[in-house]
Amino acid sequence: MLPFAGSGARRGRRQQAETTPVNDHAETTTTDAAERKDYGFQADVARLLELMTHSVYSERDIFLRELVSNAADAIEKLRFEAVANEALAAQAGAPLVAIAIDKDARTLSVTDNGVGMSREELVGALGTIASSGTRAFLDDLATKNGADKGGSLIGRFGVGFYSAFMVADRIEAATRRAGSSEAFLWTSEGKGSFQIEPLPLDAAPAVGTRVTLHLNSESDEFLEPYRIEQILREHSGAIAIPIDLVEEKGKEPRRLTDGQALWTRPKSEVSEEDYKDFYQQISGQFDEPALTIHWRAEGRTEYTVLAFVPGSRPYDLFDPERKSRSKLYVRRVLISRDADLLPAWLRFVRIVVDSADLPLNVSREMVQNNPIIGAIRKAVGARVLKELADLSANDKEKFASVWKNFGAVIKEGLHEDPTRRDEIFAIARFATAQHSDGGRSLKDYVENLRPNQTAIYYIAGDDKKRLAASPQLEGYRAKGIDVLLLDDPVDSFWVTSAVGFDGKPFKSVTQGAADIDAVPTPEGSADTPPAEASAEVALLTAMLKETLADNIEDVRVSTRLRESPACLVAADHGFDLQLARMLAESGNRGVFGKPVLEINPRHEAVLALARKAKADRTSAEDGFWLLFDTARIADGEAPLDAAAFARRVTALLAKD
Ligand code: ADP
Ligand code: MG
Repeated sequence: MLPFAGSGARRGRRQQAETTPVNDHAETTTTDAAERKDYGFQADVARLLELMTHSVYSERDIFLRELVSNAADAIEKLRFEAVANEALAAQAGAPLVAIAIDKDARTLSVTDNGVGMSREELVGALGTIASSGTRAFLDDLATKNGADKGGSLIGRFGVGFYSAFMVADRIEAATRRAGSSEAFLWTSEGKGSFQIEPLPLDAAPAVGTRVTLHLNSESDEFLEPYRIEQILREHSGAIAIPIDLVEEKGKEPRRLTDGQALWTRPKSEVSEEDYKDFYQQISGQFDEPALTIHWRAEGRTEYTVLAFVPGSRPYDLFDPERKSRSKLYVRRVLISRDADLLPAWLRFVRIVVDSADLPLNVSREMVQNNPIIGAIRKAVGARVLKELADLSANDKEKFASVWKNFGAVIKEGLHEDPTRRDEIFAIARFATAQHSDGGRSLKDYVENLRPNQTAIYYIAGDDKKRLAASPQLEGYRAKGIDVLLLDDPVDSFWVTSAVGFDGKPFKSVTQGAADIDAVPTPEGSADTPPAEASAEVALLTAMLKETLADNIEDVRVSTRLRESPACLVAADHGFDLQLARMLAESGNRGVFGKPVLEINPRHEAVLALARKAKADRTSAEDGFWLLFDTARIADGEAPLDAAAFARRVTALLAKD
């Protein structure tokens, strides 16, 4: 059996971290080197601890949520290991997290009967940065100028174990690894180093970990039972492990939560609040879910799904190393915390699946290739899309925010999962030249086609504002034709692979000649398309072609321009400009055709240039290049030769 999903790989990475004994003295003078050792924290941890101990945070109480979630994780890990190891199973006992207050000693402790830690694991886990949330917190702080030194950030990221140093000036972790006959005590004052020493077995939990906080002088509130209970209800209410509270030394424990897994309860018995708590626990995010989906599949395979669409964008949505945080349980035993339960284009969904049909000892490879998991993944994808479609119909505002956060990811499915294309098209929303709010559906678009309009027109790029102002759009706008403004990188890919929508092909307005002559000018508009080119303009066209030959495919008189003198479009066949640009940026140089320069035969600048070229071609050459470069600039590109461009513009300015 493979190591517990997620933690195994991470622990391996952590062991190589730069945690080294700093106090050689302690090591060499102690009679037994294995006795007590001093270790230096990894540099990032030291920096984090500095922040924890010296900054004032408004959300200090999140430390308890972090300790309880570590305790619950440890219990789930042991449950998992015990599946394959009877000796461990015998040791495991009934899962329990016990919190104890000792007013006289000014301590608060959190004890679990989970998997515990060996000496090596202690060094790795409580000496380096373990959680991705902690890492993100540090990164985020680094980009801020310190004004909001984490004030409201800390709760959002979940800073893990080290957050306890906000309330404690000394922390001890007494721990015994399941299956081991040794116990250890980890101690630190959060000032750059920590100590580990062996612990007599009777001073350690029989199995698991006891974390004891020696509360600092500002933390009296955490010695009050009502306060602890309040924090737990607020942050850890839906945890799937029972939690006891010992209110005072020597008192009987009182059960605070029964630890019944939330997803096993009927929907009608679960409150919004419970769902929210649970979502926050599994996602490590502290917003409200935008959508909660909870159902039990019965029939050939039986499983329960609890899925959440987050209310805001996770900070690591586009991080390629990002773990899915999908939890797979088999009859309440956590098998994997990053199982592949969702298609990649739904990776923002937080999900728990509990299957009754998988074997408990299912390995990671088996999870990936298991037909039951395959069926679950399919069902979940369909269900989430259906719920999103319902939301788009019933709560437009909420749906708009979901689409704003995750539309760019969902659209990856148009490219990657053609079988879902129609369902995704049904919920996709776009900004268009006529509707810049981003709420246009394709259905709206095709219902409002102009007479003789045969395609769904789009323009792709990376800046919606610039797209809306593109010269290529002018003729379409004049004819009352709407154009999709596609500004997500993924758009360029799906739009070329999708055959169309409702029988209408997608067509780029920056590729090929504009085919809008047959579309009538809207009533009341004085627009007329550009007329035949004059002899002078025809001559200019030929000269431009000669001068710019290395950089363009052709020069032609445009039917799509109105206000601008020139624009660039892609040749009829091959890649659209934006896609070519993106492919070129990713290193595919030279394989793309050159663009076509279209000129506006009625534009003053073009007419003036044509006259000049006829009279004296040499003096007009600078103007040829300027026409070309301004067309590039309108597409968001740099002039071909910036120095030459600057020289030409300067010369132009110097003229009377
Ligand atoms: P995270 O929980 O995101 O990994 P933390 O900073 O909360 O990050 O915890 C760091 C690591 O310390 C955990 O991954 C785990 O390996 C270990 N750890 C913390 N608390 C316990 C515990 N009660 N029992 C066993 N291991 C623990
Ligand atoms: Mg944690």
